[in-house]
Amino acid sequence: MPSPSIPASRAIVVGGGIGGMAVASALARHVASVTLLERDEGDAHPGPRPGVPQGRHVHGLLMGGLNALEHLYPGFDAALADAGAVRLRIGLDARLEQPGFDPFPARDLGAHSYAMSRPLIEHVVRQFVARDARIHVRPGCPVREIVASPDGSVRGVRVRGEDEPLEADLVVDASGRGALTLDFLAAHGQAAPEEAVIPVDIRYTCAVFELRPDPRRDWKALLVRPVAGGSRRAIVYPLEGGARWIVGLGGAAGDSAPTDLDGFLAYAKTLRTPTAHDALRDATLVGDIVRFAFPQSQRRYFERLPGLPAGLLPVGDAICRMNPSFGQGMSVVAKEACLVDAILADLVVQSRPMADLGPAFLAALPSVLDDPWNTVGQDYAYPHLEGLRPAGFARTQLFGAALNRLAAADAAVHRLVTDIAHLVRPASALREGDLMDRVAAEMLVG
Ligand SMILES: Cc1cc2nc3c(=O)[nH]c(=O)nc-3n(C[C@H](O)[C@H](O)[C@H](O)COP(=O)(O)OP(=O)(O)OC[C@H]3O[C@@H](n4cnc5c(N)ncnc54)[C@H](O)[C@@H]3O)c2cc1C
Repeated sequence: MPSPSIPASRAIVVGGGIGGMAVASALARHVASVTLLERDEGDAHPGPRPGVPQGRHVHGLLMGGLNALEHLYPGFDAALADAGAVRLRIGLDARLEQPGFDPFPARDLGAHSYAMSRPLIEHVVRQFVARDARIHVRPGCPVREIVASPDGSVRGVRVRGEDEPLEADLVVDASGRGALTLDFLAAHGQAAPEEAVIPVDIRYTCAVFELRPDPRRDWKALLVRPVAGGSRRAIVYPLEGGARWIVGLGGAAGDSAPTDLDGFLAYAKTLRTPTAHDALRDATLVGDIVRFAFPQSQRRYFERLPGLPAGLLPVGDAICRMNPSFGQGMSVVAKEACLVDAILADLVVQSRPMADLGPAFLAALPSVLDDPWNTVGQDYAYPHLEGLRPAGFARTQLFGAALNRLAAADAAVHRLVTDIAHLVRPASALREGDLMDRVAAEMLVG
């Protein structure tokens, strides 16, 4: 039986990426009609598409994101596995190499996630969305602008090539860049949100390889972190089916791996450890090598505005884009979709109107964004960001190093910091028990 819904409410979601689809599904549980408008043409098979250029790069799904998607789509975990995603036992299957720990102690932490291509994740989500009769999906439908009612609230959207606007009580901007929201605010004389940026200037060069079987290779995925003060890093990550790996080589501040095979391998050889280069030496390149520049992490504080126009809700990258090295973006927007679901469930119970969604969402947004945004603050360790470091950063680094040493030595601490990094538990969990005292003691040792 369908759950009770907010009467006669209509929602439009702009953008059919991970965020748009997840929020559409959250809305569909509670509102009468949901239309999802995506500018790219539909495609029955998973593959890269123009609207999500980052889809050709490594995309890890954190446990927090997997849990959020399982909440929105019961059976999602099994569906990913059925689609060929590679199960990763957290703490055990990915070899982590970082200064002082080559490798970081491996332990089965009793949890899992999956490795696969970004298009496969989207494809599996899209199959769930397609089965939901309450969501009307329109591919090939680029939205030109959000349009206003005479009272300044949102009336709907105008699609490129169509004169009449599509009307709705709620327009969700899940277009990634957020230009539609910013344009709407500017056009109606409203202030833009305050922004924080961390100009990390990171570049990832990625390629898919078939690795030669090697009985000595005891990892499914590999992460190589840079030398202190350096930026060269690697991620080697299995794709669906398990026969191919996507390899990302990262550098910062103008440093990046070349996009020809010889140059790519030569760059891999300069990494802090030989593990990635050893794996690639006899591997077969599949397809071309692509580079993606990520100039800055950027958070727009919509929650600090006096209010957003009624009926407007930005989500996902439209609010906050974070250095992909931490693998958080998809998980964050999936958690935002769960927040939308929880708020709407409350509104329905309390017979409150759809207009109350926006303020409640913005009020709760820091509970989703503060931890991942603090995580990307680790980027201030890069020498080219030295002059921008926040007060107390040196102590934050000492704290992080001490916590890391405790995690290496103690499985319970390892599990806790992993849960926090995977957005399963809040960073405030570090304050439980005697951990802060132990970290303080360890800081004196280190
Ligand atoms: C190189 C790189 C690697 C990354 N790696 C990871 C990772 O490992 N793990 C992780 O979780 N995240 C990663 N991310 C971040 C992740 O890709 C984003 O955070 C996530 O895709 C955000 O989802 P979204 O739905 O907000 O936006 P998007 O996924 O960008 O989707 C936006 C959608 O809106 C559509 N659209 C845009 N404008 C319009 C319009 N006017 N009308 C209609 N449709 C429109 C686009 O076609 C697209 O489908 C990475 C990002 C980059 C750049």
